[in-house]
Amino acid sequence: MREQSQPIVIRNGRVIDPSQGFDAIADVVVIGSAVVSIESPGTTELSDGWTEFNAKGKIVAPGFIDLHTHLRTPGQEWKEDPKTASDAAVRGGFTTICAMPNTYPAQDNASVVDALLQRCASEADVRVRLIGAITKAREGHELAPMHELADAGVIGFSDDGDPVMSAHLMRQALAYSSDLDLPVINHAEDRGLVSEWDMNEGPVATHLGLKGIPNSAESMMIARDIVLARMTNGRLHIPHVSTAESVEIIRRAKSDSINVTAEVTPHHLALTQEWVYGEYGEVPNTLTPNAYATNAKMAPPLRAEADRQALIDGLSDGTIDTIGTDHAPHADTDKICTFTEAANGIIGLETALALTVGIAGIGIETVIERFTVGPSAILNDATIGTLRPGMPADITIIDPNAEWQVTSATLGSKSRNTPLLDANVKPRVDATFVNGTKIWDANENGAADA
Ligand SMILES: [Zn+2]
Repeated sequence: MREQSQPIVIRNGRVIDPSQGFDAIADVVVIGSAVVSIESPGTTELSDGWTEFNAKGKIVAPGFIDLHTHLRTPGQEWKEDPKTASDAAVRGGFTTICAMPNTYPAQDNASVVDALLQRCASEADVRVRLIGAITKAREGHELAPMHELADAGVIGFSDDGDPVMSAHLMRQALAYSSDLDLPVINHAEDRGLVSEWDMNEGPVATHLGLKGIPNSAESMMIARDIVLARMTNGRLHIPHVSTAESVEIIRRAKSDSINVTAEVTPHHLALTQEWVYGEYGEVPNTLTPNAYATNAKMAPPLRAEADRQALIDGLSDGTIDTIGTDHAPHADTDKICTFTEAANGIIGLETALALTVGIAGIGIETVIERFTVGPSAILNDATIGTLRPGMPADITIIDPNAEWQVTSATLGSKSRNTPLLDANVKPRVDATFVNGTKIWDANENGAADA
């Protein structure tokens, strides 16, 4: 992480900080690596050596936290590394990312975690937290040393990409999670129902002749895990919720005071199964060469419109606590192939605001809340996702009206696998500060208006 230089006053922005219930035009004063105060506009005089950032017409928010990033390091550095993940993060307004353990080797013991944390500290400009594996090598047979991993600093446990199919192992993991006060994050996909699939089960899959997976493969696993969380008093966090039935089950569990939190991705809030036609969500009269769009393939798959609406409802009523990007970089060779052969997942850090605010039309206040206090509560870390005085100056500045084009030049990731490639989107992240230092500035870096 870089060292910060001069004191800075971020002037005249609309400061939205859900951690303090603050939403007003104000100046944010940063000295060293910390936020010092939020002042009425124009009341702070510049001293010698101070700089200012004109945020008039912009939104000033705490830096975003992503609970669901795939770092691809170690083992697949041709897809992403800590530096490029960090570049992608700051372009999307993220100042903390939490990396999933499906690396090679997996993050299933302290020495692997130590090595990756050290590498991230020297290569990444953003804060990187690691999620440890639930089972050894993520194979689902034997628990990983969860206490050892917790001592090494992991912020939760997951075999993401693969579900823990054994209820017995999941029970044990949840029992340990309550001792450790760290969440177990189980990829909810019951492979006993369907083991191989291409996309959501429904009319689009039938039309395209692709193998479908029904909603119940997700909701059955979530229901099982909630029952186990109740039995063990464990901490369960459900990643990338994608169906209406799942939202309903989680809503009921929360009303029963079970210790469960939930996440939704930007793409499940914004896109549906029709994106597999490759026409930006339109249903073409006849299939075009864009059909079987592998950049619309992910796990869980893009679902039906009714599911998307239920996810938005779940986000607004608080059933869903946080938005996690599931940033999943893949090389061209993983996506320029048949739909069945293609890898699951899309990059998501840079386009998180475009999908949630721009395309799904969700209010920016809600989105900021679920990218700041939502995840910081799950991380049990009140020092991030906030602009309270004394806290690290992780700050995101958003131009709500600026458009930008998603291109190789504007993406920070090493990978290009997004269905929004070449699209003009908004809003735009204008600047991102980490620990008081400006890491990203769209105007200096040539991300001009589209
Ligand atoms: Zn997953």
